[in-house]
Amino acid sequence: MGKSGEILQMCRDKGIEMIDFKMTDLDGRWRHITIPAARFSEEIFTYGIGFDGSNYGYAPVEKSDMVFIPDPATAFIDPFVEIPTLSMTGDVCMIGEKENRPFDQYPRNVSLRAAEYMRQTGIADEMVIGPEFEFHILDEVRFQVEPKAGFYSVETRQAQWNSGRDDGYNTGYQIPSKGGYHIAAPGDIHYNLRSRMCMTLEEWGVKVKYHHHEVGGAGQMEIEVELGEMVDMADKTMITKYVVKNMAARAGKTATFMPKPVYKEAGNGMHVHMLLKKDGKPVFYDENGYSGLSRTALYFIGGLLKHAASLCAFTNPSTNSFKRLVPGFEAPVTIGYATSNRSAVIRIPAYAKAPEAKRFELRCPDATANPYYAYAAILMAGLDGIENDTDPQANGWGPYDFNLYDLPKEQRQQIRSLPKTLDEALDALEEDHEYLLKGQVFPERLIHIWISRKREEARRIAEIPHPAEFLQYYDL
Ligand code: GLN
Ligand code: MG
Ligand code: MG
Ligand code: MG
Repeated sequence: MGKSGEILQMCRDKGIEMIDFKMTDLDGRWRHITIPAARFSEEIFTYGIGFDGSNYGYAPVEKSDMVFIPDPATAFIDPFVEIPTLSMTGDVCMIGEKENRPFDQYPRNVSLRAAEYMRQTGIADEMVIGPEFEFHILDEVRFQVEPKAGFYSVETRQAQWNSGRDDGYNTGYQIPSKGGYHIAAPGDIHYNLRSRMCMTLEEWGVKVKYHHHEVGGAGQMEIEVELGEMVDMADKTMITKYVVKNMAARAGKTATFMPKPVYKEAGNGMHVHMLLKKDGKPVFYDENGYSGLSRTALYFIGGLLKHAASLCAFTNPSTNSFKRLVPGFEAPVTIGYATSNRSAVIRIPAYAKAPEAKRFELRCPDATANPYYAYAAILMAGLDGIENDTDPQANGWGPYDFNLYDLPKEQRQQIRSLPKTLDEALDALEEDHEYLLKGQVFPERLIHIWISRKREEARRIAEIPHPAEFLQYYDL
């Protein structure tokens, strides 16, 4: 019956009217194109659906025809649309003379190649990761780029956001600044909404580990998911963001994963826990190693720390990312590793003691990353560390078992800092990207496109007069 048989059967059984194809653009957004279920046929798996790749950031206008080939294994009924719609993700191809070729810059293809490269090295056959999703649920926020007379002060506006209301009215349950961690109802105003998000995620195959209110004033949330295979987790990252944003929109709210939406409050990270497996066995465990980690794990850490600055160009690719990476909010600022230390970029959780659970987390990433590129780049940096025996301790990158936020100047000067701006991260990527090119995992062209697009983004944002500049300079 072919690949289409099951899909067509499902359409008949469930009364599906539309079939929806979801693709990831260069920045990491889902976009979609829809066909009536009656148009679906076996031919789609050969010829695909044509689209204009230039609007996805993938191709110049003069050569912008691309095709999408759906993967029936990803079929799921989209829970957020009224018309019964079956949704699928899949592969993006370039159109060749004779046959279509997988598009080498397509994010999912990059992460598949990274996993393949890892297997070829013989170091491991599976990378298991667990991202943590932090986000804000806010009332609809109206941004003003050009302030009017009587322009609000940033502090007043912040207080309104923090109260979860937009009318300046305090409900009496306002969570004080930095006081929201695991707060119970009624402070946890979005408990029901967050629970519904998690129930939908479970139905969609994303296993939720737990969810809670985060440190920030009213509205900062976190959902942690069970660890899983790297490419699958990138797919699940896309699903999680889609579910969170759509459930918030249905409740008349907005959800944002922006790294630092509220000044002087905790930002939104997307920490990534990781471990490698070979023949089903964990390779990061050694009961006699530092914090229970094997040499392989420490070299992987060495690779992440060596390439941390350039890695940020993929794990923290927005100008806003660097407003989160400042001291005082449990976001990392320095390049080092330690156990239980939330001020270092790599934290080894003290509680994950079992050999199968032995892992560490990279704390710099945030959800403005394209998850496919970010997870692939993390894996490539770690593998490079293993291939070169990059010992983090011998290089003086830790372990730093002390608070890195308030160090005396001399000590601080000896510790490398994470990039302070998007431009600094892009400078680092320009200098240091050989480790990404191995096995043609990242096409060199993609690195150049990424750098030039992101530079342009940073330049445009820097040119816009900022509301805080009006507060500072208007009356001078
Ligand atoms: N929100 C913090 C960050 O930006 C993390 C806080 C936490 O998970 N305890 O990384
Ligand atoms: Mg967490
Ligand atoms: Mg958290
Ligand atoms: Mg964490």
